[in-house]
Amino acid sequence: MTRAQKMHAYIPITVLWLTVISARTLDDYERNKTSLLEQEAIVSVGAGLRLSEDELQVNNILMTLKDEENKNSIANPENYNFTKHYFTYRDQIEKSRVYQIIKRMPKGAALHVHSTFVLDEEYMLSLTYEDHLYGCYVGTDLKLRFSDGVPQRPCPTNWTLLSELRNATDVEQFDSELKKRFTLYCRDQKDIDTDINAVWNHFDSIHSITKPLITYRPVREKYIYESLKRFYDDNVMYIEMRSGFHRLYELDGSEYDPTFLVRLHMDVTKRFIEDHPDFIGIKFILTKHRSANIKDIQEAVSVARKIKTEYPHMFAGFDLVGQEDVGRPLSEFLPALLDANDMDFFFHAGETNWLGMQSDENLIDAILLGTKRIGHGYALAKHPVLMSLVKKKDIAVEVNVISNAVLALSRDVRNHPLAIFLSFGLPVVLSSDDPGVWGAAPLSHDFYVAFMAVANQHSDLRLLKQLAINSIRYSALENRRKTRLFKVFNKRWSEFLKEVLAMSL
Ligand SMILES: [Zn+2]
Repeated sequence: MTRAQKMHAYIPITVLWLTVISARTLDDYERNKTSLLEQEAIVSVGAGLRLSEDELQVNNILMTLKDEENKNSIANPENYNFTKHYFTYRDQIEKSRVYQIIKRMPKGAALHVHSTFVLDEEYMLSLTYEDHLYGCYVGTDLKLRFSDGVPQRPCPTNWTLLSELRNATDVEQFDSELKKRFTLYCRDQKDIDTDINAVWNHFDSIHSITKPLITYRPVREKYIYESLKRFYDDNVMYIEMRSGFHRLYELDGSEYDPTFLVRLHMDVTKRFIEDHPDFIGIKFILTKHRSANIKDIQEAVSVARKIKTEYPHMFAGFDLVGQEDVGRPLSEFLPALLDANDMDFFFHAGETNWLGMQSDENLIDAILLGTKRIGHGYALAKHPVLMSLVKKKDIAVEVNVISNAVLALSRDVRNHPLAIFLSFGLPVVLSSDDPGVWGAAPLSHDFYVAFMAVANQHSDLRLLKQLAINSIRYSALENRRKTRLFKVFNKRWSEFLKEVLAMSL
């Protein structure tokens, strides 16, 4: 362990007030520099944790590997992945030994995940092999629909069974083109260097092709189970899913009430827990797109209210989604949102590079409306008053580093505002937003990137553990289930320490 690591590992919890202004002797200088570094470290996320003997040993291994992986980066920035777009290094992450540790680490909960963007293009492609799927080309777009006969829906060409479309051409080529429709992932630099609106348009097109696939009830059942499995395998034991009010359908075209989606998730989760007894479950944060009008929001709130009454243990709260720069701000929906004070809010806010626009002022609206957590809060670092308020009111910030990189807010992730949030000791939770759309691990890639490149280079196992603890603490779980999740986490944490100590890294 280096001197700096030791210093950061054993900082006393007492708050030292800043009394040092200058130094006149070498001794003063050394003492005062140490004191200033300590005072900064004490404020940061994770500094309050004390590590056990096993944890100290694991921390030694972890920090040695972290130092090794980052050590030549100043001399050779061309080899330092984190200055580049996530897509250029995504497939190398799994080779990292630090990642091997992070992957095994229990991470508590994922609190910012959109239910329809969890699974990657390979899985989405496999769903297109299900029977009764029809396709219709609209220009270069492809519409999909499951149906027991030719869908009775408008189509400018012809509805044709997808299997026929596939078999009428080179199957490999057809599937390769189809897969691209389910992902933002691209290799070409010119595609990577696109602007924020273009990325969001692409993102919205993925939603358009995905929705008819996973609103077909039997497919959605499989999709939900697989989503839970992926998170579980990534050591996540509880999920808060953001979801729109989708009406699921059957082969004969009949549709369910929007509350059925919650019912189906409840049933599948129950089945999943029978197979995986230490999984805690999921809750919904119901969402409406910010392109909606106020009447739409009022209707959405009343459906959310119905779900809250019928499935209280599945309901967390309400949120608005969509690109903030071009969508309506929260302030436009004030009458509807003020009337919805019987439910908790978890607003996306400040997912923007702009300062002084409506999109970053969403942060003010979200706080004034009593949001329990802030989704992204990317612009928060530019608002020192709000940042202090968020800390004082203990409003957790749901940070999604890779999402912000892919959706064109940040490139070199060392500049991500999470660095400031962590240094300032904000209540941060890490999540992954839409990992399937960029082919990330459910949560481990986000932890890895945040730990290696965004956080202080001295940040250690305490940060990782604190982030996992925060995800449980700031969840919308009832106390009884929260306690259970902490128990599961602690048990898995002990096993994780033993596993790392037994690994040959
Ligand atoms: Zn989101």
